[in-house]
Amino acid sequence: MPQRKQKELFPAKVLTKEEISPGVFTLCTERTFDFIPGQVVAVALTADEEPRLYSIASGNNTGHIRILFDINPAGSLTPRLAQLNPGDELMMSEPFGRFLGTKDPAWWIATGTGVAPFISMSESGLIQNKKLIHGARTPKEFWFSEHFSSSLDDNYVRFATRETAPGIRSGRLTQWLKEQNNLPNNIKYYLCGNANMVVDVRDILVNKGIPYDNIIAEIYF
Ligand SMILES: Cc1cc2nc3c(=O)[nH]c(=O)nc-3n(C[C@H](O)[C@H](O)[C@H](O)COP(=O)(O)OP(=O)(O)OC[C@H]3O[C@@H](n4cnc5c(N)ncnc54)[C@H](O)[C@@H]3O)c2cc1C
Repeated sequence: MPQRKQKELFPAKVLTKEEISPGVFTLCTERTFDFIPGQVVAVALTADEEPRLYSIASGNNTGHIRILFDINPAGSLTPRLAQLNPGDELMMSEPFGRFLGTKDPAWWIATGTGVAPFISMSESGLIQNKKLIHGARTPKEFWFSEHFSSSLDDNYVRFATRETAPGIRSGRLTQWLKEQNNLPNNIKYYLCGNANMVVDVRDILVNKGIPYDNIIAEIYF
């Protein structure tokens, strides 16, 4: 059986690591490559282990690469990633992927850490003509919400499923999308996050007449 070709990994020094909320981290490494906002990198701690993929969550005009991740307690990589400190090394691939941000008008739709590529797009100057629709369980789980609130204003729409708070809608973003009439069909829709959300949103959009080619999806598995 043909072997899946693994991305080549290169050492990268950790610059900072911050626990932005219990179990959720940003980690910055030195940057040695160009990338297009929306791309991912493969990350591991050693060259001989199976890497995991992470969206780059930083602008392409800085000297570092940021990733945003939450710990999967039963996972192989994230509990160890969370233990890294500045000066430690990890292994990282060059960037790749086809989830590419542009300056064109678009709706960005994310759940949880699926907001990561939109942080990169936003910090890279692609925020004009965008709407961000973000779903999470609780109001505390809207990562980088201050950044998006100030840059997107009313075009930053949040949905929390378990608790409510001022300015945050209650329920699932999929329900809200189902209730929308006249969704713009001449813009791109970028969907990023867990498989259920991405598949459900894609079906809703297609049923509402959005051309399939206008839907760009990145599933975190
Ligand atoms: C394109 C892409 C981009 C991504 N970007 C991000 C991002 O920006 N941020 C982010 O947080 N995540 C992202 N992810 C998810 C990320 O790659 C990891 O899957 C996640 O961080 C968990 O990694 P882990 O090694 O800790 O867990 P894993 O070891 O992968 O385990 C995940 C779960 O699977 C279970 N599991 C593992 N192996 C088995 C097995 N053999 N049988 C049954 N169950 C098993 C574990 O118990 C655990 O519950 C992305 C994924 C993709 C595909």
